[in-house]
Amino acid sequence: MRALPQNFRDASRLRESEWRDWRWQAQHAVTNLQALDKVLRLTEAERIGAARAEAAGLPISITPYYLALCDPIDPSCPIRRQCIPRAEEAIGVRGDLRDPLGEEAHEVAPHLIQRYPDRVLMVATDRCGVYCRFCTRSRIVGDGGGARSLAELEPAFHWIEAHPEIRDVIVSGGDPCVMSTERLARLLRRLGQIAHVDVVRLATRAPVTLPQRITDELCTAIRESHDATWIMTHFNHPKELAEEARSACARLVDAGLPVMNQTVLLRGVNDDAETLETLFRGLVRERIRPYYLLQMDPVGGTGHLRTPLRRGIELMAALQGRVSGIALPKLIVDTPGGLGKVPIGPSYLVSEDEGVTVLETFRGDLVEYYDPPEIADQ
Ligand code: SF4
Repeated sequence: MRALPQNFRDASRLRESEWRDWRWQAQHAVTNLQALDKVLRLTEAERIGAARAEAAGLPISITPYYLALCDPIDPSCPIRRQCIPRAEEAIGVRGDLRDPLGEEAHEVAPHLIQRYPDRVLMVATDRCGVYCRFCTRSRIVGDGGGARSLAELEPAFHWIEAHPEIRDVIVSGGDPCVMSTERLARLLRRLGQIAHVDVVRLATRAPVTLPQRITDELCTAIRESHDATWIMTHFNHPKELAEEARSACARLVDAGLPVMNQTVLLRGVNDDAETLETLFRGLVRERIRPYYLLQMDPVGGTGHLRTPLRRGIELMAALQGRVSGIALPKLIVDTPGGLGKVPIGPSYLVSEDEGVTVLETFRGDLVEYYDPPEIADQ
């Protein structure tokens, strides 16, 4: 186990067993400026941001584990930028939306969102171990509702039962893994009773922000609740692949659960090729597939964390050929309004003319590719 955090004033009184206990981590999450002040040397911008977050908007919640990953001095620390509010959250920019993916307009039953013909997303809770400052669902996370009971979700289950075209259910929130194991297992088993649901995807940032939550008991409960459950997690920076997080991922994979990762492209966190390369290589080493590199959704108050679209394309060009295909995610824009995801990226197609296509390789070589001659149907 990693040494107990030096930046916790009372670290010497912390017992290792407490640190390893996810409930202790959740109960001791830092939620206000006063507590942050004790462990980090805050800048004025962070101080203003934290005071504002306490009063309105996306609240603060940071597990001791994740806070211990923060650099106590350096405000440009990539972990700090993801979890410590800043004054810029008060600044609106062009294109900002409260609900960037149009989820409220696409709600087909309480807590159930449909944006594609064959899949739905269930909002199982509004709680998370850490409230990420870039959260797409900042309009609802931490709003006080807590985990939805099975009775509250029953209309959503009924809706899915009545729609056999639904093959894939994403259980999200908030973070469903901050629910009790029993509650989560009951929810997954309920989905398992719906014959046409082939796949359940559990969207959780717990391996990153609360890895103690990924116990063997939880892994077994997830594995046994439904035949095909995929874990969709959310590492954004190599620093997050700390020892506890890597162990959590190993427990998931060893339990037979496929783990996919969606990285959000964040200004000042991971918007350079070296950081992304290190992250994607590290994920593959842990048997996690980097799946999407997501252009940040235009959530109100996050303009300071967003990069221009062009930057993501440049980064994908820099990584093409430099890392293997299994380590290279798709760059995705989830279109504002909830009209669906669009893959974007550099083009390697230079020209097409009478069966001859000119392609540009990652080294900049131009190569002709000849289509086969047309063959009459026999
Ligand atoms: S864990 Fe997910 S739902 Fe929770 S605040 Fe972070 S991004 Fe939002």
